[in-house]
Amino acid sequence: MSDGPENKTRTWATLIFRAAFALAFSFLLVQLKLDFLDSYLYDLRFRLRPFATVSGDVEIVMVDQKTVEHFKRIPGYDDHAAVVRTLLAHNPKAVIYVTPLIKAGDSEEEEGRALAAPSGTVEQGRELAQLLADSNRGYQMTDRLFLKGESGQNKLPAPFDRVPLLAGPKTADLNLFAKDGVTRRVLVDYQGEPLGHAQMAAEFNPDIKDLGNLKGKFEVYETNQLFIDFQRNGSFATTKFEDFIRQSVDPKRFEGKLVLIGDDLGKSLKSYVRTPFSRDPSAMTLTEMQANMFDTFIRNSAPHEAPGWVNLLLTGIISIFTVHVVLTLRPLKGMGLLMIAAGILTVVGFVAFWPLKIILPMAHPYLAIFLCYYFFIPYRLIVENRRSWEYQQKNRLLSQVEELKTNFISMMSHDLKTPIARIQGMTEVIMKDPVTLSHGQREALDHIRSSNEDLLRFINSILNYARIESQGVELHCQARDINEILEEVVRKHEFLAKVKRIQLITEIEPLFPIQVDPDLIRQVFSNLVENAIKYSPEDSKVLITSEEMNGFVRVQVSDQGAGIPAEDLPHIFMKFFRSSAAKSSPIKGSGLGLYLAKYFIELHKGSILVESSAGQGSTFTVDLPLQQV
Ligand code: ADP
Repeated sequence: MSDGPENKTRTWATLIFRAAFALAFSFLLVQLKLDFLDSYLYDLRFRLRPFATVSGDVEIVMVDQKTVEHFKRIPGYDDHAAVVRTLLAHNPKAVIYVTPLIKAGDSEEEEGRALAAPSGTVEQGRELAQLLADSNRGYQMTDRLFLKGESGQNKLPAPFDRVPLLAGPKTADLNLFAKDGVTRRVLVDYQGEPLGHAQMAAEFNPDIKDLGNLKGKFEVYETNQLFIDFQRNGSFATTKFEDFIRQSVDPKRFEGKLVLIGDDLGKSLKSYVRTPFSRDPSAMTLTEMQANMFDTFIRNSAPHEAPGWVNLLLTGIISIFTVHVVLTLRPLKGMGLLMIAAGILTVVGFVAFWPLKIILPMAHPYLAIFLCYYFFIPYRLIVENRRSWEYQQKNRLLSQVEELKTNFISMMSHDLKTPIARIQGMTEVIMKDPVTLSHGQREALDHIRSSNEDLLRFINSILNYARIESQGVELHCQARDINEILEEVVRKHEFLAKVKRIQLITEIEPLFPIQVDPDLIRQVFSNLVENAIKYSPEDSKVLITSEEMNGFVRVQVSDQGAGIPAEDLPHIFMKFFRSSAAKSSPIKGSGLGLYLAKYFIELHKGSILVESSAGQGSTFTVDLPLQQV
């Protein structure tokens, strides 16, 4: 096409326009806060994580319902003193009370937690306090955060005032982030001072003594925080409190470990947290959450978010891809490709998280697929509607032109028939004239007559073609013996055959009359016999047979001619088709004969076939049903 380069520029312009649109769209999209979807996808990565990893440095000692059944009460200070004494005898790195040591508490939170606190006489309390304080390894975990200036002033009431407090509050997403109450983060420091987890974990992993080495640290309201590398419930080694009293535990296992003493009494929801694994308010005990927090620091394994530009990049690429797919591919294929793209995004998102701990943005790219899809599908429908309307218009115009052409041809041909008939009549009058014509004149007259016949045949073919095109062919059926029509056709062609010394052999079986349109069937057989003679060499034979078989009348016309090359066979029943050999030979023809034959036979619900190969002659077989449907 001559406008090739112009078309190319236009295609490029369209592509660039689409890409620019998709990018602008992504830019707007990433401004949208999708905390809910983001956090859901974040949690999913934990839920589907196929493996759990812990450092093995954190041990839990748990007071639960079974313990209460064993002691017939919540274990008291004396029981705790016995357990702590055993623990300290085996050199743990730290013994940290997650359970509050005293019932005191004025806030609602502390009151709830205080339900799990041990109790006893002042003496028993003092004994436990002394054990913890003197060991230099005993701590009380607290939810409180101390201002820089007040460190040292914050103490438990006597006798526990010498037990150091370790600040490590739970950090549920209540007013921030997803606002779904799930605990996902842990505080690293407060007002520049490292909090409990960071302090303690540095004893196990010296790397993080310098908080700058902590992976995945991010800043929120002047504090640094980490995402907790949460492990499923039950991932940390847990010993039942009463097992110490039963002496069914080997206390050596606590050597060098960080031991958390906690509770799972089901008395207050304040003792439990929601986790990425479950949004049930009692999904995990505070103690297990603390174990997760400590372990994240010890392993320095906090998941970290990919930089902001990755989100824009991923969303941009996905948007361009989706827009392109929606606007150019077939709907089903496009849908399939988009699903594959979403699948790849999912796999990449999960794989980057599990081993590499990278939190790839997934919410915005997913949303980009959906939004681009739903935004551009209607656009595509509009474009396609317009295109199909244009096609319809063009089609209407084309069929009008086609009709005009057919009408013109049929009008012309019709008008030509009268002068031709007149020429034919006049020729015959002159030929019958008794006045002796010279030999040359008679030959000239013969030529005029045969050329005139050729012309008439040609015009008849064209007229038939025009009738077919305008759907004007109707069957006028009568009961006729096919043999009669065949014999008539053979008789008419005897002269033509004689000229080429071709022998026309007929082998016909007696037949019952069948319903046919004799004019059309005559034309078909005439064409077959005429072709057989036309395309055969001199001194050859043409065999015409008829027989009845399986509800059909079968007529075959075979010749010993040059045959039809295999590459032409599929085309010979097409309108105006003539083999290249025929076209370059002096044999005249319109290429319409077989087209009309097939059309007429099929109108009778019959069939026409050809078997031929180059140099082997051809056999045309016509089957006509005995019963007209
Ligand atoms: P035409 O007017 O050219 O004979 P037809 O539609 O009758 O048109 O035939 C189409 C073409 O099929 C012919 O041009 C010729 O190449 C080929 N053909 C038809 N009949 C025979 C035959 N008996 N032997 C060889 N070729 C044939």
